[in-house]
Amino acid sequence: MRSRNVRASLLAILSCGSLQCAVEQSKPDPRWGIHDPARPAPPVVEPGPAGPPVLPPADALVLFDGRDLSLWTDEKGNPPAWKVEDGYAEVVPKSGSIQTKQGFGACQLHVEWAAPLKVTDKEQERGNSGVFLMGKYEVQVLDCYDNRTYADGMTASVYGQYPPLVNACRRPGEWQTFDIIFHPPQFGIAGRTVTPARITVLHNGVLAQDNVCLTGPTAHKERPPYAAHPARLPLLLQEHRNPVRYRNIWIRQLDAP
Ligand code: MG
Repeated sequence: MRSRNVRASLLAILSCGSLQCAVEQSKPDPRWGIHDPARPAPPVVEPGPAGPPVLPPADALVLFDGRDLSLWTDEKGNPPAWKVEDGYAEVVPKSGSIQTKQGFGACQLHVEWAAPLKVTDKEQERGNSGVFLMGKYEVQVLDCYDNRTYADGMTASVYGQYPPLVNACRRPGEWQTFDIIFHPPQFGIAGRTVTPARITVLHNGVLAQDNVCLTGPTAHKERPPYAAHPARLPLLLQEHRNPVRYRNIWIRQLDAP
């Protein structure tokens, strides 16, 4: 009797999709168009004050320790043109995005960032950058402190797909954290998508994405379908014309060979 209950519980867990995404779960929410201004914004949650940098655990690969971007290139393979000083890297507008030399698949990623202290614009032009897992799946970096924009483009959104569960932004200029758990899509015969990608995000320690199933790569004003790609691809940080700062970036590979 007991083993039957255990089996039933396991089946319930598997069927509710908490461990893996089924392809059917990765369809866009039919109630809302992409970047729909009528889509409700999540509640604001005060995350508490910023702390010191979160030290990497022993098995993490440190991708940026505040000193140099030697593990990164621009998108053409050249050394990044972003400014590095005082323990952080700062986006240089119009210099392009940067990406890791190494490719990654399933991972736990820690990123600290700060939107510009001086507010010069609004909506999507205020502190915009982004963390692109595999260079394709964006967790949005944006200054949403007292800054309204479409819900699926807010800070910690899966851009164009999933608004965050909360708006846990700190003020401009303050350090913020993303802790991201990412599982890449799995492709089968003829590039068919077998398992969609999924993402969990904590923004300043507050749950913002809870194991959501991605509809495909993220994009502006479109939701392109999956296209088969390698199991590991570079992590990319977006240049979106705003001088966003980054520090203390480390990654734990969950599919390490
Ligand atoms: Mg962005």
